[in-house]
Amino acid sequence: MKKQVILIFGLLCAAFCMSAQQREYALVIHGGAGVLDGVAQDANRAAPYYAALDSALAIGDAVLSQGGEAGKAVIAVIRYLEDNPLFNAGKGATLTAEGTFELDAAIMLGKDLRAGSVAGVKTIKHPIEAAYTVMTKSEHVMLSGEGADHFASEQGLEIVDNLYFATPRTLEWIEELKKGKNGTVGCVALDKQGNLAAGTSTGGMRNKRWGRVGDAPIIGAGTYADNNSCAVSCTGHGEYFIRHAVAFNLCARYKYLNEPIATAADNIIHKELNTVEGNGGLIAIDKTGQIAMPFNSTGMFRAYFYKEKSSPTIIKQVGIGQELITPP
Ligand code: ASP
Repeated sequence: MKKQVILIFGLLCAAFCMSAQQREYALVIHGGAGVLDGVAQDANRAAPYYAALDSALAIGDAVLSQGGEAGKAVIAVIRYLEDNPLFNAGKGATLTAEGTFELDAAIMLGKDLRAGSVAGVKTIKHPIEAAYTVMTKSEHVMLSGEGADHFASEQGLEIVDNLYFATPRTLEWIEELKKGKNGTVGCVALDKQGNLAAGTSTGGMRNKRWGRVGDAPIIGAGTYADNNSCAVSCTGHGEYFIRHAVAFNLCARYKYLNEPIATAADNIIHKELNTVEGNGGLIAIDKTGQIAMPFNSTGMFRAYFYKEKSSPTIIKQVGIGQELITPP
């Protein structure tokens, strides 16, 4: 009898330890996936990306290390990346076929499954803030086009001319885009209270037409967070990410099939999707603080930090190609 009690206690302990938050806090960023041949190997080309990702990590760390909420960290990081013309989000966004800029963004909190998103907006300087405002100041989840621009202006968000999103480098950048480079941004975070959050912001796919909307602002496709499973942000060929409901799919595999986050993420990115049908990648954190960042493209700008509960050290890495290994 005594032995049985000890065995049951041991099993319960093991189950609890596997599902309890092992890491005090953690954060992962992506800066888009695509054909990044040679960027990681060329120090001059890679340097500004490393610097930007490093700064973004510092912004996230400042929030999480002070006990701030995951959602706040995600917004702060993405807002910074939207201001940075290196990435296809906010200033630096890619062009539509008409030569205009149409931006998509989403935020989701794992605590209560609240979410907000905007699609095809043209004048909001920080689309991620508009997504947050939809979540906090309206009874809706998703607003699109002129209505969303109007809502953001009514709410006092910073409004800019559509040409604000262009950069002096735009022409050169369009040439780069023709080679298939993407640069959407995304961030997922776990805070000290065990809350998960995910956010994504993008200019979409180059030459998009007819008000095309990608996966980023669609809750469950490009962005999802649930404190009972994971937080996920995707980048890549949005049409495939929508069809496979990638972000929710990962959470469902984790929650219902008990797949570890790395297995769930690999199954989706390398088996359900592939380089031709669903080129891209994702970043994810589970409720214990484990992370995954697979991609089936040649590269994906990415960065992470985490702090184990048992150690004072913060582990931090930035990478572009296969050289950056996901931590165990
Ligand atoms: N997923 C985005 C879209 O399809 C593009 C990207 O991540 O580069 O709009």
